[in-house]
Amino acid sequence: MNNAEHLYKVLLDNHEDFFLAISDSGLVLELNHNVESICMISRLETIGKNFFDICSKNKIYLSFGLDDIKKISEKKSESIDVSIKTDTSTTFLRFKVIKILGDNQTYYVVIGKDITELLSYKKASIKSQMYLQTIIENLPEYVYWKDVNFVYQGCNKLVSEYLNLKSPKDIIGKTDNDFGWSPDRVSFLRESDESIILSGKKNTTEDIIPLNNTPRIMLSTKAPLYDNLGKIMGIIGVSVDITEQKNMEEDLKKAKEAAEMASSYKTQFIANMSHDIRTPLSGVFGYGEELEKKIENPNLRNIAHKMVRSSHALLNMLNAMLDAVSSENMGVEDIREEPFDLPYLVQTIIDLEQCSVDLKKIELLTYIDKKAPPILLGDHEKIYHILLNLVGNAIKFTKEGHIDINIKLLEKNNNAVQVLFEVTDTGIGISRENLGKIFDLFYKVTPSHKGLDKGYGIGLHIVKNYTELLGGAIKVDSEPSKGSKFSFSLSFKIPDKDAIPKNITQISLTESDDKQLIINSAQTIKVADPMVKVEVGLNAPNILIIEDDDDLRNIAENMVSAIHCNSIAATDGETGLELAKSQAFDLVLTDIGLPGMSGIDLAKLLRQYEKDNNKNPVPIVAVTGHGQTVQKECLEAGINHIIIKPMKLQTLTELCTKFALFGEKPQSSLLFDQPDLQHVTQEHGVLGPDLPNTEAELFEINNLPIFDMENAQKILGDNAVLLMKTLKNSINITTPKELPRIKKAHEYNDWIKVADIVHKLKGTYLSLSLTRLGVACQYLERYHQAGHTALLEKLYQQFIKVLEMTVQQLKPWIE
Ligand code: ADP
Repeated sequence: MNNAEHLYKVLLDNHEDFFLAISDSGLVLELNHNVESICMISRLETIGKNFFDICSKNKIYLSFGLDDIKKISEKKSESIDVSIKTDTSTTFLRFKVIKILGDNQTYYVVIGKDITELLSYKKASIKSQMYLQTIIENLPEYVYWKDVNFVYQGCNKLVSEYLNLKSPKDIIGKTDNDFGWSPDRVSFLRESDESIILSGKKNTTEDIIPLNNTPRIMLSTKAPLYDNLGKIMGIIGVSVDITEQKNMEEDLKKAKEAAEMASSYKTQFIANMSHDIRTPLSGVFGYGEELEKKIENPNLRNIAHKMVRSSHALLNMLNAMLDAVSSENMGVEDIREEPFDLPYLVQTIIDLEQCSVDLKKIELLTYIDKKAPPILLGDHEKIYHILLNLVGNAIKFTKEGHIDINIKLLEKNNNAVQVLFEVTDTGIGISRENLGKIFDLFYKVTPSHKGLDKGYGIGLHIVKNYTELLGGAIKVDSEPSKGSKFSFSLSFKIPDKDAIPKNITQISLTESDDKQLIINSAQTIKVADPMVKVEVGLNAPNILIIEDDDDLRNIAENMVSAIHCNSIAATDGETGLELAKSQAFDLVLTDIGLPGMSGIDLAKLLRQYEKDNNKNPVPIVAVTGHGQTVQKECLEAGINHIIIKPMKLQTLTELCTKFALFGEKPQSSLLFDQPDLQHVTQEHGVLGPDLPNTEAELFEINNLPIFDMENAQKILGDNAVLLMKTLKNSINITTPKELPRIKKAHEYNDWIKVADIVHKLKGTYLSLSLTRLGVACQYLERYHQAGHTALLEKLYQQFIKVLEMTVQQLKPWIE
């Protein structure tokens, strides 16, 4: 091989293109390395041979023949795309053919460019383009695009269908003017398109278009389309048919309004009904009471009493409902921020609940974070209500274990704190499915008809409303049989150092601290059959009881029954006298301060009657709250014995022996005995009978127990049922009935009446060992009786406060 030949060979082999020179008859004159590798042939074996024959022999499939080569050689600038397929690969080539006319023969030089990769890329891009087009075409939203002159350049199928075009392509070249839309709509669309082109920002509009003759609401978002250089080349728009959503929104809005309306009607209804029921119910209650007073027959009276009690329970429920309704309608204007003493507030709750806790033999533990400032600024009344409800529930639903009130400081800065309140119990717990419902109005896990717990399902609803009103949120964690934890956190401002906490000045009467609220409350009352009455034989002694106060009469009747005697009761002196004249009694037990004929007058008239009719004098025992002041009068009237209220069962038993009711020999004469003075009855003090020596002492009653249970049981002869029954009657019926009368009398400055009512109440309160309240009554009444006036108002206020506190403390316990 000479140099030229060598050079020629190197050139050929390094030529990236397919290089083949063939003769007019297809004989190979030259080929390069690329031809060898694509067609899997060898140069040496091929030269001089027919290219097409060799290929066919080697099973190389060519998409072209000699004719094609010749044909293309005629068109100099044209090329032809061919393929060469072997067993293992297919190569695509773009051929250019040069026809060379030699001296004695014509030959063809075929130069092929490998376009396999190019084609496959093109194919892929065509595929993805088609894919994209299919996506756009089938998009479930309306998609369209325009150029900068607002001429449509394309759209998807949904748009072409809407516009009644045969295919999406038909939109090309059209503008918004071409679809018969109203000029207003066209100019609206134009404006929005222009603003997109000008600002380069997308915009979203809502408009109504007719579709199949029905108006549809369209939400259209249009955005600028950018070219490769970042220049705006048009607009792309997507419109969504939001008619259904809009209708749904509208329906929802209407449903919400209707629900709100229904809820407000419901609230209104409950409020109205509570009011409207309250009026006739008060009538039932009032008339029932009248009836109860007038009925002589003890059985019928008992029925009337139950009726009164039931109507009272209903009234209570209505009041609770009104509370719930009012808590729902509260707004920020109902928040009363005042400085208050947080530990004191908690202590008030403990004092109130201690009795119930002791009775249930569970523990009430409190932890108040020392870091929390004690005096805070907030609506302490609502906080008190919330905590009282939670603690009350915790006690109600816990049989054993303990209740914890935890108060923790979460955050503190110069003038504000965040405090966490937690009330935890080891009670019955609440199941997961009920946790979300317990704050609903009237929801109770155990429905009322199962009678397991009393309550109206109102408390937690109020708790929720109040905590939310105060800016908190009530949370509950609970596990059945393990217990529950209710918690909420509230923010408070810290008041000035010299701010006077309101809860202290409102409740405390004197400086002394209030520790001994309820004596011996840990003792469990054994409640047997609620209406236990001792069986009394026909020949048992008969005792006439004359007492106008329902509670005292009830106590007396029960005591008489307890000592195995029969009793007949009268509520006034006149009836008592008639009974005493017409029936034989072994003992007459009469109150002195009766309305109308007094006990003393009754005694006088009875003694006269006995004398006139030659009858044996019946022993008359007078019960009085007036202590020694009436002794002489009683003696003169023929009364045999005076008992200072409260009468004790023990005293009654002694009287039986004294007056030989069961036939024994009388212990002493039937003459007047020294009265049995009660421990709270004072000797004649400087201020007057049954009053302390100094004015200051009049207000030092906070060391007296609110309820001395041990003493109460002693008075009633361990009759827990009677105690409970009378306590309930006094707290739930007598007291709420008398309080408005006292208040009215006080309003009119009618101190005589105030003292009169208070005197009557004193008897019951002392009989029940509501000692502090009894003494508050006693001081008010006696102070007035002694002719003093200076401290009357203060004593009245003391009485009201002690009364409120006593009721508050006993209420949850007796319910
Ligand atoms: P109620 O006056 O009936 O107690 P609430 O609204 O205070 O009404 O409570 C609703 C219900 O939540 C209760 O009836 C009771 O089933 C349940 N519940 C509330 N507190 C507790 C608790 N500490 N442990 C268990 N259950 C509770």
